[in-house]
This record gives sequence, C-alpha cells and structure tokens, in this order.
Amino acid sequence: MPARRLDGTAWAERLRHKLEPRVAAVRRHAGRPPGLAVVLAGTHPPSEIYVRNKIATATAHGCHAVLHRLPETASVDEALVLVRQLNADDTIDGILVQSPLPAGMGTDAESRVFDAVDPSKDIDGFHPVNVGRLVQKRQALVACTPLGCATLLDREEIPLRGRHAVVIGRSDIVGKPMAMLLLHRNATVTICHSRTVDLPAICRTADVLVAAIGRPGFVTPDFVKPGATVIDVGINRVEDPSRRSGYRLCGDVDFAQAAPRCRAITPVPGGVGPMTIAMLLRNTLRVACGSPFERA
Ligand code: NAD
Repeated sequence: MPARRLDGTAWAERLRHKLEPRVAAVRRHAGRPPGLAVVLAGTHPPSEIYVRNKIATATAHGCHAVLHRLPETASVDEALVLVRQLNADDTIDGILVQSPLPAGMGTDAESRVFDAVDPSKDIDGFHPVNVGRLVQKRQALVACTPLGCATLLDREEIPLRGRHAVVIGRSDIVGKPMAMLLLHRNATVTICHSRTVDLPAICRTADVLVAAIGRPGFVTPDFVKPGATVIDVGINRVEDPSRRSGYRLCGDVDFAQAAPRCRAITPVPGGVGPMTIAMLLRNTLRVACGSPFERA
C-alpha cells in the first residue's frame, strides 16, 4: 500500500482558519489586533524567507505583525534593549527572535537574548521557563516546530501510546521538545544524535521516526521499519541549476526511496514547515487571549 502523505499545508490552513474567531475576539475585547514582533538581526538569506512567511501569514490572518531589523554589526546589548522594549509594549503579544543571530554577537548571544524575552510573550517557546514547564507537563508556550509535528500526528490520528518513537536530533529548538511532546503522548522515546552508535538499527525499531538533523536525504530506507510513520523536519537547500533560484528545498529523509516502506510520511516542502507557522499564530493568539500557559 502506498504511504499516506501527511499534508501539513492542508492541516495548517484548516488550523489557521479555525483561529480566525479568536483574532476577531481579541480585536473586540482589546480594541486592537493581536500583535506579533519579529526581530531579525543581520543578513541570512534563509531567515529572510522564514521571517517573510511568518509576517505574511500573521498579517493575512488579521494580526499586526512588525519586523524589527538589527544590522549584522549589532551588539547583544542592542538586541537586549529592543527585546526589553517589546516586552513592555502593550500592543505586542508575541515576540520572536529569529535564529541564528549574527556570529559576531558571540557564542552565548542566543541564550542571552532568548532569556530576555518575557516568558509570557515567548511564542517560540525557547525561554527556560517555558522549556521547564513543558518538561513538567504544565501549561507552556511550546516551540512551534515540534508542536506542529505533534499536532500533525494528533490530527492524523497516528497511534503513539506505547509505541516506540525515535527522534534524530537533540537541539533545544526541535529534538528535545519533540521528545517531550512524544513522551507526554505516552510513546516510549529514544533520542539519537551525532554520537549515537548504529543509528540505522535504532531507527529501524521506531514506529514513529522524527528526523531533525539538517542533512539532505540522510534517512535512507534502511533506517525505516516497514509500516513506520516518518516526520521529516529538515529543511535543506540543495543546488538545482534547473530552478531559477538555483536551489531547491529537501528534507532530511530520502523521500522517494523511503516512502514506499512507510505507513505515513511528511513531504518537504509541504509537511512540517507550514505547521510551524500555524503554531506561531496559535501561540500568538494564546498570549493575546490571556492564556499563554495553556496545556501543550
Ligand atoms: P541543529 O543543527 O541544532 O541540530 C541537529 C541535530 O542533528 C543535532 O542534535 C545533532 O546531534 C544531530 N546530528 C547531526 N549529525 C548527525 C548524524 N550524523 N547522526 C545523527 N544525528 C546527527 O538543527 P535543528 O535546529 O534541530 O534543525 C534540524 C533541521 O530541521 C534543519 O534542517 C533545520 O533547517 C530544520 N528545521 C525545520 C523547521 C521547520 O519549520 N520545518 C524548523 C526548525 C528547524
């Protein structure tokens, strides 16, 4: 039987439209639209595209979305001043600082700047308060990409209870929160990473395999148990002279080769990416509706 294609674009559109009454409610009660501030520091072409999509989607759904740019040469202190201004701005519900920050800001820049965001406006769910609350299964703002993956699994009714879920990748942004969300859905979870020994053998025991590595086509059919569900988080640019842009996007999974072994699989593009943006809108509305710490 051919693999079921988990259509993130269609689910994200449905979810976004379901949020529209909440946008209207915020406008009615607060007398203003839900507010989203995006901080973009430096020039990083993929970030430009991600930020443009986030702003366009939020605007299309009736939010007031503002982009704050900082130059490549900006210091951490300048970023901190901006974040504190946004924390104090009553017209802004959600704050997002686009990663990566310029290398010139130093190695600890991201943790310093993310930590400065008011946890109740932290729609990316990166603040230690939100991470801690997620770990303890308390109400939290949860990182949008793993939340989008978990929501897709929920909506598609992929069984998780008692199943073995393997997450490849242990980043704070994707791998670790993804593992928590799967654990909270009663999966037995294994986290794999660059030092894992015999990765394909572990992955072959997964009923649900989540790939968040950042290497195009890394997950080949020998990683996939027949009948598994595969969630491909990766977004990689590979050269493609046949495209006007000179590149195309592909995931961490070799979709063409792996899909025939799967029960269900997400495509790239059109899988996890659109769900991430829908969750950004959802988190913004949670804050705007005064309930940032709803249960994940
Ligand atoms: P990261 O670089 O922070 O983490 C990558 C992880 O992969 C690390 O934990 C590392 O241990 C693991 N890894 C690297 N090489 C490995 C190997 N050979 N074997 C096993 N594990 C290995 O990246 P990230 O921020 O977690 O992002 C991962 C991917 O997801 C990237 O392609 C990124 O572009 C994509 N991403 C997509 C979205 C989305 O909305 N779809 C959002 C965020 C990130």
